[in-house]
Amino acid sequence: MVKITRTSNIKQVPEYIEDLGFGKIFTDHMFVMDYSKEEGWNNPEIVPYAPISLDPSSVCFHYGQNIFEGMKAYRHEDEKIYLFRPRDHIARFNESCVRMCIPMVDEEDMLKYIEKLIVVDNKWVPSFEGSSLYIRPFIIATTPTLGVKPAVNYKMIIIMSPVGSYYENGIEPINIHVETELVRATQGGVGNVKTAGNYAASLLAQQRASRKGFDQVLWLDSFYHKYIEEVGVMNIFFSFNKKIVTPKLNGTILPGVTRQTVIDLCNSWEVDIEERRISIEEVTRACYQNKLEEIFGTGTAAVISPIGQFSYDKKKYQVNNGEIGQVSQSLFDVINQIQYGEMEDQFNWLHRVKI
Ligand SMILES: *Cc1c(COP(=O)(O)O)cnc(C)c1O
Repeated sequence: MVKITRTSNIKQVPEYIEDLGFGKIFTDHMFVMDYSKEEGWNNPEIVPYAPISLDPSSVCFHYGQNIFEGMKAYRHEDEKIYLFRPRDHIARFNESCVRMCIPMVDEEDMLKYIEKLIVVDNKWVPSFEGSSLYIRPFIIATTPTLGVKPAVNYKMIIIMSPVGSYYENGIEPINIHVETELVRATQGGVGNVKTAGNYAASLLAQQRASRKGFDQVLWLDSFYHKYIEEVGVMNIFFSFNKKIVTPKLNGTILPGVTRQTVIDLCNSWEVDIEERRISIEEVTRACYQNKLEEIFGTGTAAVISPIGQFSYDKKKYQVNNGEIGQVSQSLFDVINQIQYGEMEDQFNWLHRVKI
C-alpha cells in the first residue's frame, strides 16, 4: 500500500511550452520509500514535493553511493498517458543497484509506484507538441557514517518534471570535441551504470569543450584513447557506407534503452547494423573517403541527436554537410510517432498508465 498525502499548495501547471525547458519545473508530489536492514524496502509514500532533510554524515554526500534512472511518459491525442519501455528502465535501475551495492527494488512494485505518482500528478503530463513528463527515480545511501562501506539505510525517491521539446527550433546537428586526455569510464569501473560519480567525472571535459564552442564531448576508451565510447551522456551511432555501427557494450558504455530501440528498429527494417569496436581513425578515414554518411547520439532526453561536425587532433571534420541525415531523421520520426501513439506500437514498447 502506498500512503498518499496530498499537497495543500497546488502549483500552477505551465501554460506555454517555452516555460518548460528540461528538468527545471517539478510536479506537485514525489514518491519516497525507505530501506533498512531489518525491514527491507518499506513505507512507500507519495508526499508533497519538498526539500528533504538528511544527516550531514549520510554516505551519499561523501562517497557517492547513489543511482538514478530517466524515463518518459507521453500524453497521446486521446489524452491517455503511456510510459516508454518502463520495464527496461526499471531492470537497468536494478543493474545499477547491484554494481553500487544498493538493495534492489521489486520491479513490478516499482512500476506501480511510478504509475501511482503519475496518476496523482496526471495533470502535469503536458500535451504540447514534442513535450513529455520526465521521470527521475533515484536511490541515495542515508546511513550516517564516515566509514567507507555499503550503507545499511537508503531512500528511494521519484521526482517528475514536465519537459519541452528538446529541439525548440527543429533538430539542429551538434558540434562535438573528441576528448583525447580525460576519460569518462574505465574497464572494471562503473561506466555501464547510472551512478552519480560518472556525471561529476565528465564535467571538466564538458566545461572545457563548451568554452571552445563545442556542444558535447565524444569520449574515447581509457586505455588506448582510440576507441569510440559515447557522446556526452548519449550512446553513439555511425552510418558508414549504408551500414549502421555502434560501439559494442563492453562494460564502460551505458546500455541505453534508446540505443536498443534504434538497434531493434534497424533489425526490423533489415538495415545492416553492427555492434563492434570503432576507432576514431576509422571514422576520420571514412570521412576523408566520403564513406561517413551520418553520426548521431541517442538518449531518452533528445531521442536522436545528429552530429554535424567533430574535431579531433586539432582538425575539423564535417558530417553530411552539417545537416541531419536520412537515417537520423527516419529514426527520430518513427520513435517519436510510436511514443506519441501516431504509429502502431508493434514492439509493445508503450505501457498505458490507467488513471
Ligand atoms: C542515460 C544514459 C544514456 C542513454 O540511455 P537511454 O536509456 O537511452 O536514455 C547514454 N549514456 C549515458 C552515460 C547515460 O547516462
